[in-house]
Amino acid sequence: MIGPGMFMAGRAIRQAQEAGEATGREAARIARSARAQSETLQGDIERLFMITEALWTFLKQEHGYSDAELIDKIEEIDMRDGKIDGKVAKQPNLACPGCGRTMIGKHALCLYCGTAVERSPFER
Ligand SMILES: [Zn+2]
Repeated sequence: MIGPGMFMAGRAIRQAQEAGEATGREAARIARSARAQSETLQGDIERLFMITEALWTFLKQEHGYSDAELIDKIEEIDMRDGKIDGKVAKQPNLACPGCGRTMIGKHALCLYCGTAVERSPFER
């Protein structure tokens, strides 16, 4: 026998299925977006590799540097934060030389007093 309870249970099941399908579509959309971003980043990294290799080739040919010297320099930079781990740790924010307050972000001017601060182009 089919009563109102069965009818309501069937409707609840259909609503749950629809909600699950909507969640699945949203998850698929997010996954497609993440894949597209990843492919863009891989392309950017490949391009940077090629540019770096071209610049390194100039340095070897024009100035006589060797691959061993490059490897030593990479290790030296990696060790700046005290450990060889393939990355340089973020440095803590600088104190403004003008007012002594902690600089915010990577701004070239102190947001509090306007003092110009020279930043390293490779600052993390
Ligand atoms: Zn300042």
